[in-house]
Formats: sequence, C-alpha cells, structure tokens
Amino acid sequence: MLAAYATGTGGDDLLANLEVGEREIPAPPRGFVRLAVLAATLNHHDLWTLQGVGVPPSSFPRTLGCDVAGRVESYGPDTPPSLPVGSEVVAHAVVTCGVCDACLGPDETLCRRFALLTEGPYEGTLAEYCVVPAQNLFPIPAGLSPEQAACLPTAYLTAYRMLFNKGGLRPGGTVLIQGAGGGLSTAAEILALAAGLRVIVASRSRSKREAALGRGVHHAVATGSEEVSEVLALTAGEGVDVVLESVGEATWAASLRVLRRGGAVVVAGATSGADPPSDLRRVFWRQLRVLGSMMGTRAEFRSLLQMVEATRVHPLIDSVFPLSDAGAAFSRLEAGELAGKLVVKVS
Ligand SMILES: [Zn+2]
Repeated sequence: MLAAYATGTGGDDLLANLEVGEREIPAPPRGFVRLAVLAATLNHHDLWTLQGVGVPPSSFPRTLGCDVAGRVESYGPDTPPSLPVGSEVVAHAVVTCGVCDACLGPDETLCRRFALLTEGPYEGTLAEYCVVPAQNLFPIPAGLSPEQAACLPTAYLTAYRMLFNKGGLRPGGTVLIQGAGGGLSTAAEILALAAGLRVIVASRSRSKREAALGRGVHHAVATGSEEVSEVLALTAGEGVDVVLESVGEATWAASLRVLRRGGAVVVAGATSGADPPSDLRRVFWRQLRVLGSMMGTRAEFRSLLQMVEATRVHPLIDSVFPLSDAGAAFSRLEAGELAGKLVVKVS
C-alpha cells in the first residue's frame, strides 16, 4: 500500500526524513480493526515525530498521521465488531491500556501507557490502510465529508477539552486564543463561537487577524506590546475568563496579564519555546490557574461529534492533497502559513 512514513529523525531538513512509498498492508491484532483510509490530516505532532520527539531511533520506518476517517474493512481475531464492516467512521486517536486505575476512572488520558496512533507500537494513518482500536470507532457525524471528519480527532478534540472541560467555559464567557490560522486555533474559534462564547484571537500577522474576523471572531488583536492593554480595554478592564495557550515563550507573559482574577490559562503546546518567565507572584496574587491539557477522552470525543452534528459547524480545511503528494502537505505544515487543517485524501 502507499503510505507517508518517517525513515528516521533529526537533521537540518526534517522533510528529508519523509518518504511516500510502498509499505505492507497492516493486519489488525486482537481488539483492533483495519480501516480503508478515506482521509487523514496532518498535525504538528507529525513534525515532532520527524524531529525524533517521543520515538526511539529503532522504530523506523513508521507511518505518520494520528487522524483518520475511513471505511471499516476487517476486525482482528476474537474482536466483536463495534460497527458493521463497510461503515464510514472517524477514529478517536488515543490508545490506552484499558486496565489501569486511570483507564477505569473518569479520565483515561492519564493512563501511563497513553499513546497516539503513530506513537509507541502503533502505526499512523497517512496510508491506504491503517489499524486502530475497535472501541475507538465512531460514525462520521451527519453532514460531514470524510475530509472534514478527519479534522476532528486531534485539533478539534484538543480544543474541545481546553474550552469546555479544562477551561470550564459556558455560553457568554470570554476566551482569548493565542495564535490564529493553525489547525488548533481555528478549531477553538469554531467551537467557541458555536458555544456562544465571546472570542478574541491574538496573532502577529495582520492577514491572519483579518481572516479570523472574516470567520466571525469578535475581536482580533496584535500579539506584542499593545496586546494586554487592548484585551483589557475589550473586557472593561477585567480580563478574559480563559486563555488558550499553545504558542509558549512568545506569548506567555501576555497570557498571564490578560486573565481576570481567578481565570485560567490552558496549555496544550509551546511552539515558540517551553521555558517562559513564570511570573509566580501574579499567579498567586490573582489566583490564576495554569492547566495542562492533552487530547481528550473517548467520552469527550463522543460529545464533540454530537456538538458538531447539533450545531452544524464544519471544520475549516486549508487545503487537500492526494496521498502521493503528501510531501507538499508537509512542506505547507512546516511553513506554518495555514488557514485550517491540511487534509490528505486517500480514496
Ligand atoms: Zn491505562
């Protein structure tokens, strides 16, 4: 089968580690199911894999990609079908052990064996076929194409948990999203607007701010020296309820300064660096909450799919590439000038 896979990691040119070529069709083990892939999407996680983050050097070649919409083809031995063969499905991208205290409790993302598809022993989804846990299958929400559904498992689930679980936001609340245009930030915009939140985005780029306003966000402010005063002016001096932070060093100081007393900054990334000044006096004096967030549970993924169906929102797609041209999609991801998700259409 054709697949986009990493042949190794590191070096000056990450994409030199990427190959699009033939690999063996995977056989589903017990508890797993093979999907004929219809669409998969790219995430920053795939660039981390090419950098060597979280993957042992011995584990290559390794098919990339965490997100998939596909057609159910065959189940592993002794595996009761969760959905009929031939169903069009979207797969939750998180794999956990299923037996530890975390897995038996309310939040299996705390499992010590937590992995995404493409990590540990699991191959990825940027291929003609992939293998995922049978219990991770969900029907594609009504009204969504496979290309749109494949956007949901990583970016949209991460945004959903940051907004509504970790951030605890409810209709009428105010959120600042650091960064605009990428898969996660556009997912957060779309879900926040659908939930009746007041949405402010911050970006260095004028064109990205204008594009966000065109998508319906309430305010777009320039990242930098004026950001804090502008956000405070927009919130009558109070500050926002929640900041969604995935930029890191470049925006952290502002993120702490735009929060209302008792507000929360929810962190799910650090693309500009991971060691910002901590400003602890501000954290305790204003009783700020700093909350890490990572993907989401199966229950949250189900709720996300129900929300997408009920609100009729559509994930924002930047562009669609054929699998044979996955290298061009990776070049675009690395360049970072995105407006939504990068989709690879397989069949
Ligand atoms: Zn577990």
